[in-house]
Amino acid sequence: MKKHKRTLKEDLRMIKRALKLIESNTPHFLLHNFLYSFFATAIFVIANYITASIVDELTGNRDPKKIVFLLSMYAAEVVLYIFRDYSWRKVRTFHIISEKWEEVLLNGKSFSMDYPNMEDPLIRAKRQLITDSRGTGGLGKLMVNLVSLFEGISKLVMCSIISMELFFKHSDKVLSGFEKFIDTSGFTIAFFVFVAICAVGEYKVTSKFNRLSVEKIKGNSMIERLLHYYLDDYIDDSKACKDIHIFNQKRLIRFSSDKVYDEWIKGCKELFSLQRKRNNRFNLFYVLTTGATYLFVALKTYIGAFGLGGFIKYQFCVARIVEAAEIFSSAVTDLRTNNDYLEIFFDYLDTPTEMHYGTIPTEKRMDNKYDIEFHNVSFRYPNTENYAIKNLNLKFKVGDRIAVVGMNGSGKTTMIKLLCRLYDPTEGYITLNGIDIQKYAYEDYLDLFSVVFQDFRLFSFSVGENVSAEVDYDEEKVWSSLEKAGMLERVKAMPKELKTPVYKDFEEDGVEISGGEAQKLAIARALYKDAAFVILDEPTASLDPIAEHEIYSRFNDMVKDKTAVYISHRLSSCRFCDRILVFDNGQLIQDDSHETLLENPNGKYSELWNAQAQYYA
Ligand code: ADP
Repeated sequence: MKKHKRTLKEDLRMIKRALKLIESNTPHFLLHNFLYSFFATAIFVIANYITASIVDELTGNRDPKKIVFLLSMYAAEVVLYIFRDYSWRKVRTFHIISEKWEEVLLNGKSFSMDYPNMEDPLIRAKRQLITDSRGTGGLGKLMVNLVSLFEGISKLVMCSIISMELFFKHSDKVLSGFEKFIDTSGFTIAFFVFVAICAVGEYKVTSKFNRLSVEKIKGNSMIERLLHYYLDDYIDDSKACKDIHIFNQKRLIRFSSDKVYDEWIKGCKELFSLQRKRNNRFNLFYVLTTGATYLFVALKTYIGAFGLGGFIKYQFCVARIVEAAEIFSSAVTDLRTNNDYLEIFFDYLDTPTEMHYGTIPTEKRMDNKYDIEFHNVSFRYPNTENYAIKNLNLKFKVGDRIAVVGMNGSGKTTMIKLLCRLYDPTEGYITLNGIDIQKYAYEDYLDLFSVVFQDFRLFSFSVGENVSAEVDYDEEKVWSSLEKAGMLERVKAMPKELKTPVYKDFEEDGVEISGGEAQKLAIARALYKDAAFVILDEPTASLDPIAEHEIYSRFNDMVKDKTAVYISHRLSSCRFCDRILVFDNGQLIQDDSHETLLENPNGKYSELWNAQAQYYA
């Protein structure tokens, strides 16, 4: 959360922006919010007004017609109830819609974000915080706060208007001494000044304690998140069950969660103590103003300025004005606190686009003649000191079968990310058929690549949708890709074949698949895309030796005239490649065929090869 303290102007600007956003999705939210507050307040103010008038009539003229008329007005209130409930349903529906829509907006932004920003831990943390705080802060919370604010304002305005009558109500009797003083406007003004002072005092006290409570809640939020992690998240993750059992992690989890739990209890007690202090102060102001109101109105009734009905009416209205001060102060504090969340939300939505997305369409070539070349490319990840790639010069020739090898962290995956333009070089440039790749339309350029990353993900959708990434897919092409990836028989045996959901997240007849099967589906997906470059990052890590053998023996058939790049730790599986790139410490140190590389016994490749060969000897 940002530490910068916003000015009132900045706060108002942010609320205005959020309101514009809300109104663009759920038009007339503010109108319905206003109508709801108006009707909700009017219902009880009018009810009180009628009661007061009936009491006046019963203790005054006792005109039966007027009493019946007043009673029938209660029935008329039904209309107000209908209006109130209608606008409440609207407000509530808009609120629910907006909370979901907030997620849709965030997703839209994530989809359109530069890839480096999607991977940036700080930006990801922002998104996580927004998600974790849903309900506590954000657009939905702003709507809830505005309902309270409007309610406070409605009460204040309506009850003030009615209370104003007090200035003009004077006794018909001839008064003298203290009674005459009570009947003066000066006395009424003194009373209102007292009420105003109490209301301001109450506003200040509630503001201060609300602010302290909010700070306490914020301070406790890390503890809340930790507790949630220990008690829910980790245990809910089905992948964690094995580790919990094998490593007896319950001891660690219990110890840590007990510690955090104690802190949580302490935080709750401190919060309750703050709330108790706040309530005590609030009650003091409330008793003072209510007592003063009773006294003032009783005295006015006593001298005959108005009847018993007036007593009921004015006492009620002045008490509501004081109540409104509290609602108002809470709403204002909450609105400003909510801006802490809105600030992060807008920060996320405003994440700038820094990549150049290009405009030149890539040529659609049947012969796949796409030559890509790295020209002295160096690359550092954002906010890091060290180069992950240094002075890389490299040319991919059409139809190449290239293996990329090297120790962990030597820059293999980073080179692929640069090749696929997930990142742009820090220095140097990359060309496609002689033109800087940054000049090509981004999505067009991405169309040239099919990649199976090590940490690929499958959807909990059907097999067909997973392979094609489309809703209306070409079934024949999906089957052919599955066959090439060695998954044909397995999918044919599934209850709904291509329509079978992967995993059981949403449907009971979904299938759970092994890591190797998932990898085969990911390979099928890469083949379905039919891109000019097929890149496999550790393509066979989860496959059993037979499946691995099958994949390699059919490999040439799979990739045909495409350029294929493999990252692999199993050097024996790289032998079928024409060309092997050896990376070390971000640099390309060797680039040759398997046989030629082995001729140099002191080279890195020989070192890696010999290190692995002893296990296969
Ligand atoms: P390899 O694929 O050869 O194992 P990588 O290309 O993944 O290596 O990583 C090269 C270097 O870049 C490593 O030092 C790694 O820690 C660093 N690195 C990789 N990804 C990121 C990232 N997203 N942010 C910062 N540094 C990264």
